[in-house]
Amino acid sequence: MRLHMHLHGARGSRAMNVEHVRAWLYGYRDRLTAVQGLLDELDNRIGDGDHGTNMLRGFRAACEHLGEAASPSEVLHKVSMGLLSTVGGASGPLYATAFLRMSQAWRGMEDISIKDLANGLNAALAGIQQRGGANVGDKTMVDVWAPATECISSDPTEHGVREASRAARQAALNTRQLVARRGRASYLGERSVGTCDPGSVSSAILFECLAITLVEGMEADPWTAQVL
Ligand code: ADP
Ligand code: MG
Repeated sequence: MRLHMHLHGARGSRAMNVEHVRAWLYGYRDRLTAVQGLLDELDNRIGDGDHGTNMLRGFRAACEHLGEAASPSEVLHKVSMGLLSTVGGASGPLYATAFLRMSQAWRGMEDISIKDLANGLNAALAGIQQRGGANVGDKTMVDVWAPATECISSDPTEHGVREASRAARQAALNTRQLVARRGRASYLGERSVGTCDPGSVSSAILFECLAITLVEGMEADPWTAQVL
């Protein structure tokens, strides 16, 4: 246990290397395989039913060539390009922008500390908002990225990463009550109330996979069973 704590503490300042970043994305792709139907069903209720299909197609393609990337920044750059070329929906360019901005924030770095992670996430969130124009409360993925990013920025430790995963999950569930003001779901107006935003759910799973990669002993939570 002492040895474990020691190793664990030592990773705090250099939280992620290229292998960890790859593991995060491979883990996410595998989770998408399991939740594709759920994400499609959410999008079926308030959009056009393709969010899970889009995300899985995109991340499968994006993960294909990650083995060739030599740094965390290169991994994310490849992911961004893979998403852009395979996902036609709104979510493709938005996630692609997020990963591109994070890649730029990490340029030249071999090891990513949790502070670097926070910087990357803030750049990603700013990119999503510039590109999509959504604010918190508009029932989009921004509702998840904003609080999760804030958790890690204000507490750049493993604890903050774990809290970000929790906050992301709660925020995704809270989008159920909101009226959509951006994206396809906004065409439904008040009728979008009662269904969780699919992009918020896929984003919360991305933050959960990040925490699983970074925090020893953290496991996938079956929270997505509460989404429908
Ligand atoms: P499409 O809406 O083109 O079919 P997807 O179904 O793959 O694309 O993605 C829908 C998700 O994209 C939504 O659930 C929402 O979270 C996100 N989204 C849509 N428009 C915006 C926007 N302007 N800003 C942020 N996120 C958005
Ligand atoms: Mg859709």
